Amino acid sequence: MTTGLFFPTCALFFSILLNIIYFSKERVKNEENKLYQFLVVSNLFALLFEYACTYFSNNYIPIVSDIVLKTYLILLLVWISIFIIYMIYITKKSHKILKPFWIGAISVFAISILLFPLSFEQTIYGPTITGVSVNIVYLASFSFITIWVGVCFVNRGFYFNKKIIPVMVYIILGMITSVIQKIVPGLLLITPTETLITFLMYFTIENPDVKMIEALNIAKVQAEKANQAKSEFLSNMSHEIRTPLNAITGFAQALKEEEDLPDRVKEDVNDILMASESLLEIVNGVLDISKIEANRLEIINNNYNPYKIFNDLVVLTKSRIGEKPIELIVNIDETIPKVLYGDHTRVKQVILNILTNAAKYTKEGHIEFKVSSLIKGDICRLIVSVEDTGIGIKRDKIDKLFNKFERLDEDRNTTIEGTGLGLAITKKLVQLMHGQLVVQSVYGKGSKFTVSIDQKIAPSTVKLEDTLEVRKEDLQKDKDIIGKTVLVVDDNKLNIKVATRLLEDYGIKVDSCLSGFECLEKIKTIKYDLIFMDDMMPKMSGTETFHKLKEDPNFNTPVVVLTANAIAGMEEKYLSEGFDSYLSKPIERKALDSVINKYLNNE
Ligand code: ATP
Ligand code: MG
Repeated sequence: MTTGLFFPTCALFFSILLNIIYFSKERVKNEENKLYQFLVVSNLFALLFEYACTYFSNNYIPIVSDIVLKTYLILLLVWISIFIIYMIYITKKSHKILKPFWIGAISVFAISILLFPLSFEQTIYGPTITGVSVNIVYLASFSFITIWVGVCFVNRGFYFNKKIIPVMVYIILGMITSVIQKIVPGLLLITPTETLITFLMYFTIENPDVKMIEALNIAKVQAEKANQAKSEFLSNMSHEIRTPLNAITGFAQALKEEEDLPDRVKEDVNDILMASESLLEIVNGVLDISKIEANRLEIINNNYNPYKIFNDLVVLTKSRIGEKPIELIVNIDETIPKVLYGDHTRVKQVILNILTNAAKYTKEGHIEFKVSSLIKGDICRLIVSVEDTGIGIKRDKIDKLFNKFERLDEDRNTTIEGTGLGLAITKKLVQLMHGQLVVQSVYGKGSKFTVSIDQKIAPSTVKLEDTLEVRKEDLQKDKDIIGKTVLVVDDNKLNIKVATRLLEDYGIKVDSCLSGFECLEKIKTIKYDLIFMDDMMPKMSGTETFHKLKEDPNFNTPVVVLTANAIAGMEEKYLSEGFDSYLSKPIERKALDSVINKYLNNE
């Protein structure tokens, strides 16, 4: 063996190894990989041809030797061109390869190699090829690198990424080798250098594992984006559904208060109200679950009176039980502190969900609602259990209970409405509050759900949140309220109609307008006693309008935001913007009463 073949022999060993490893591994398929595959394969062929070249240079056979040598040069040309295409590909932001251009350019150089002559030279290391053909390969490399620089220039620099540095090192390595090769032609360094670069690329930027992780990361980002889009869609939908629902409940409320309605109509109106209420519950459930999944549900802690919550829950459960022969046994431990610090809305939601289920899935017997406490330092552990004598849950189905949209025993429950979201939300909420939820059940006999949640104990002297005091006694039509003027700002005419209808019941004069701009005009000439402001309006939102109103130092009319943006946390957000109060759509009669009482009743 000639000394010159020393490097190609080592390289051949590594190249074979690389081909085996690379092609036996599972790979991501993309443009970059395809280019790299060409590099790996063409390098192996170039090495094999290098042997053939040495043989046919020593044993010259006309035409055959020329073909072998020129094929070797073409393989070199292919490797170099593909390497540069790879570079252009990764340094350009818009990953695009001008295939026809490159195929054309490579073909022109390849044909030139075939047409121009080449000659041999014997060196101390063995034979080597020289001549115009060889110089064409150098010329091609030089032209391609110039094209790359040109591309970078046109794109005003290159799109920097972590692959650039290794690639730069490889280019420099290639250049140094070319120079050495020119000085000592017998060493046959070019192809082994290609092997070295291909090999290094494998360990730095082309490793299939790294690529796989990259692809997974891209997929993860896309999935997260899609999930976010879904959550946004759901929250928009909920907003959209609330608007017509507002009209339905609003008009039904107003109708219900008409005095001389026939009994049948009254009943129908009640049914409409009940149906809208369950629709609203579904909308809220879907919204909650989408928020929980997007990790956007926050626990908002405040001081609250737990007894008030338990009371409300008993009232709600009684109405849920309705006419069914079920006794509701309430057992509330009196050692529970009067004021706790925690998220009362969510605590209530959790307990209500299991109480509602007990009422829904029990035909007769009793439901026992029991609350006890365990006090340690300033922490009160609320232990709430709800036991029923209902249909019970099969042992093997208990795991499925908390899957969203999962309802058990569908055939037995066809008459009981529900979406299967209640317990999924309950479980997530309990987790968010670092509590625990335990289920015990005997199929056909009954179930017991136990929740324990830690809440901080607050001094009983602290002021309680307004939200709990909202529901005051029903409002009488006060002579103070009659004749007051309010302005309703909403871009939706139907919403204005509903609000007007509800407000006129109080004897209030209602004026309205369809945009923030109109509102700003109106308040210049008319002094209102109260303004109801929708938030999501085109061009100028309610919040923006509100801030514009506040720019006038003499403006002192209370402004209540009246919005379908009703997810948890919104009330706090609007109050922190400076609004005087918050009302959600569909308008709840009692909440409206309390707002009217607060701002229009002078007493
Ligand atoms: P939603 O609460 O969303 O209106 P839902 O009540 O069907 O609908 P979950 O509260 O998640 O949904 O309950 C899931 C299923 O678990 C119910 O469909 C019911 O089959 C079963 N289940 C829940 N609570 C009880 C219970 N106390 N007794 C018997 N089965 C129950
Ligand atoms: Mg339920």
